[in-house]
Amino acid sequence: MDQPSSLLRSIPGIDQLLKQEQAQSLIEAYSPALVTQALREALDELREGIISGTVSAVSQDEMLMNTAARLAQAQTMGHRPVINATGILLHTNLGRALMAKKAGEAAKQAAINYTNLEFDCQTGKRGDRLVPIVKALKALTGAEDALVVNNNAAAVLLALSALAKGRQVIVSRGELVEIGGSFRVPDVMTQSGCQLVEVGTTNKTKLADYEQAICENTAALMKVHTSNYQIIGFTQSADMADIARLACERSLISIYDLGSGAMLPLAPYGLKMEPLVKDALAQGADVVCFSGDKLLGGPQAGIILGKAEYIAIMKKHPLMRALRADKMSLAALEATLLLYQDEELARRELPLYRMLEENLDALKARAEALHALLDASIQKNARIVPSDAQVGGGSAPGEMLPSLALSITPETIGLNDLYMRLIQAETPVIARVHQDSLLLDMRTLREEDIKPLADALNQALTREAKA
Ligand SMILES: *Cc1c(COP(=O)(O)O)cnc(C)c1O
Repeated sequence: MDQPSSLLRSIPGIDQLLKQEQAQSLIEAYSPALVTQALREALDELREGIISGTVSAVSQDEMLMNTAARLAQAQTMGHRPVINATGILLHTNLGRALMAKKAGEAAKQAAINYTNLEFDCQTGKRGDRLVPIVKALKALTGAEDALVVNNNAAAVLLALSALAKGRQVIVSRGELVEIGGSFRVPDVMTQSGCQLVEVGTTNKTKLADYEQAICENTAALMKVHTSNYQIIGFTQSADMADIARLACERSLISIYDLGSGAMLPLAPYGLKMEPLVKDALAQGADVVCFSGDKLLGGPQAGIILGKAEYIAIMKKHPLMRALRADKMSLAALEATLLLYQDEELARRELPLYRMLEENLDALKARAEALHALLDASIQKNARIVPSDAQVGGGSAPGEMLPSLALSITPETIGLNDLYMRLIQAETPVIARVHQDSLLLDMRTLREEDIKPLADALNQALTREAKA
C-alpha cells in the first residue's frame, strides 16, 4: 500500500482534471466555475480521507464521478413536488390548493414572457394590472368593485388600515380567530392602527351586543368566518345580514373576513358550513375578503370585493403598493376565475373539486392499483380501510369527507421509521400515522402519484432497518 505522502502527491491538479472528457461535459451542463468549485471540494475530501487513512488509492474516474454527484446535489431544488397522502385537500404546509392546469400554464407564460401587465394594448397608454381580474370578479360575484393583494392577511390589513385606522372596530369574542402561526385577528387590528372592541362571549354574541358597543369613535363592524374551528353546543352568533343592516343604519362600514371564499356550493359534498362569496355580498357586507388559494383553487392571493367607494380608498392607500400581487399570481388568478364562468368547467378543471367529487369506487380502484404495485412482502401488511379526508386549510372545520386509505402496518421497521423514510424519499410522501398503522389517503392522490408512491413504499420497506 502507498504511503499517505505519496498518495497525496499523486492527486492530479484541477487543471489536468478539467481537461478530461467527463469534466468537459459537466462544464457544458453546468459552468466552468461550478465544475471547478465542485472539483476543489472533491479534492479536499480526498486529501482528508488520505490523511485520516480512510482512502488508500487515488482514482481520477472516481474523483470525476464524485464531482458529478456534487453538482447534481447542489442543483437539487429545496422546493419540489411532494405526494400528499394526508387526505387534507388544502394542506397549508403542502401549498394549499392545486391550481388548474390552465392556471399553471398562465403563470408560466407570464413568467417567461413580457406581458401587458401595466400596458393597455388598445390605447398604448399605461394600464392597470388588475383590470381583467376586477372585471371577472365583478361578473362572477355581482360586487361593485374588487381589488387583489398578496394574500388574505394582507387584504384584512389593508381594509382595516384604509377604512378604520385610529378608530374602533367591533368584533365578536367568538370570532377572534388565529390562522396558523401569525395571523391573529387582534394582532392585525393593532397593526392596522385600529382599536379592537370585543363583544359578546366566546359562545354567544347577539346583534344587541354590537349595537350597545357602537360609539362615536366606531368605524366598522367586522365579522370573521371561524374557518378553522367550530363552536358547538349552546351557541349564537349574529348573521352577516343583520350586522350589515345595523352598520348601514349607523353609517358604519361592515367588513366580512370570509377566509376561504367558496364560489360554488359545497353542500353536494356534505360540507354545509362554508359561506359563499355571493351570499356574503348579497347579505349586504360592504367589504368582503378571502384567500385565492383556499376553496377558490387559485394562487396565493387576497381578494377584496365590495362597495366601489371603499375599494377606491383601499386602492389609493400607501400599503397597496407594498401588498400588490405579482404578474404570475395575477395571470393564474385570472385563468382560475375564467373557469368559474361555467360551473361545470370549474368543477371539472379545478383539482380541488375533482378531489371533492370522487366517489368511493374510484378511490377503491386507486387503492387497489397502488396495492398491486407493492412488493409481495408488503402487500400482506397493507389493506384498504375507511378513512376521513378533510378540506383543511382554514375551510369547513370538523367536517369530514368519507374516504379510503391504504393502511400499512410495517413488520420489519418501526412506524416512525417508515414515516421518516417516506418523507425523505426522492419524491417525498406525506402520510398520516394512525394507531399502529400508516394511512395513505386516496382522496388527495392523483393517478400520476401512484407509481412514485409505490416506489417509495417498496424502497422504504425493503431497505434494511437502521441499526
Ligand atoms: C386563511 C384565513 C386568513 C388568512 O389568509 P391567507 O390567504 O393565508 O393570508 C385570514 N382570515 C381567515 C378567516 C382565514 O380563514
